[in-house]
Amino acid sequence: MANTFSLVFAGALTVMLSLRVWLALRQISYVNAHRATVPAQFSGRVTLAAHQKAADYCRARTHFGLISLAVETLILLAYTFGGGLQALHDFWSHRLDGLPYGVALIFSVMALSAVADLPFSLYMQFVIEERFGFNRMTLKLFLLDLLKQSALGLLIGTPVLLAVLWLMAQMGPRWWLYVWLFWCGFNLLILFIYPTWIAPLFNKFSPLDDAPLKARIEALLSRCGFTSSGLFVMDGSKRSNHGNAYFTGFGKTKRIVFFDTLLSRLQPAEVEAVLAHELGHFKHRHVIKRIVLLFALSLGFLALLGTLMNEAWFYQGLGVDAQGTTLALILFFLVVPVFTFFFTPLMSGLSRGHEFEADRYAAAQASASDLIQALVKLYEDNAATLTPDPLHSLFYDSHPPAALRIAQLARPTS
Ligand SMILES: [Zn+2]
Repeated sequence: MANTFSLVFAGALTVMLSLRVWLALRQISYVNAHRATVPAQFSGRVTLAAHQKAADYCRARTHFGLISLAVETLILLAYTFGGGLQALHDFWSHRLDGLPYGVALIFSVMALSAVADLPFSLYMQFVIEERFGFNRMTLKLFLLDLLKQSALGLLIGTPVLLAVLWLMAQMGPRWWLYVWLFWCGFNLLILFIYPTWIAPLFNKFSPLDDAPLKARIEALLSRCGFTSSGLFVMDGSKRSNHGNAYFTGFGKTKRIVFFDTLLSRLQPAEVEAVLAHELGHFKHRHVIKRIVLLFALSLGFLALLGTLMNEAWFYQGLGVDAQGTTLALILFFLVVPVFTFFFTPLMSGLSRGHEFEADRYAAAQASASDLIQALVKLYEDNAATLTPDPLHSLFYDSHPPAALRIAQLARPTS
């Protein structure tokens, strides 16, 4: 059954794997080579112990990434060339048809992936994060989260899946346009309901009650011309010691959320600078731009799927001796990441550009030196390496390397 497309897929997979392994090994050796001394730019601000912890954390995560990559690849091969998807299809097509068959097949693949993934998330949380002092979760909380996520996934996923499969079956050759409209609408709905309905299932949000900090933040907001429907503190420390701040919602329902871990670590002026950076993302419309880009890309991918679905070589090339909308959908989601991987540097570069823009905004509206201090603390607290391999960073990183970011901020502005 193997055909030209099998070769194309196997070739892309091989190149992707080689590239990922090569970049990971570069990262490890670069971080190792710079482990002995704190980079000059950070000397006096970051201790040698913290710098070495970041190096070790980076190495541990990169090693772990290589092992999960190997397992993910084996699973992908088992589904396609190994005949795994064919076997699942045979099993369900003898028992069900129509929409129930589609839902059963997709849920089987998702359940198997979730089971395969479980040991990895357990190891990540309770071995690696634990070793570096970031884990705050108990096994009970971990399992409770898993249970809630699965229930939510079933509750939301089932009707969505039914709708998509129904549209694919009923809307004729232009089904992908209808699925796309439905998908965009669904995503916008989730964005709207997430802060008020979904996030509180996992975390507690309490109003920020630190009066001086609140006054400071409100002054910043009015200076930048923002209105917000509330300032909240989230109990991020329930799960992890990593700190963060973010915005959710649109228009008048914008909420500003600070992780408690962030507030406990930063001075008020530094919190203000971090928030100003987040406001910069909004002011420059990065969130909207990202959503529009993702919607445009998904239209392209759905149209592509609409074409592939009718081609026998697509199924046969991936080890499946049958055709159908559900099979096409699953195969598509299995193999597309192998091809889109090569566009990672474009997306990362776009994101790094946005970070620089938000930093410039923060420097103008708050203070560059406060933001630098906050960043140094956050890098240290998150054990983010100060010396990533430049090529690895160029390829993957959504945020510019610390040294580059701080150098930009420290540059006198005209
Ligand atoms: Zn940012």
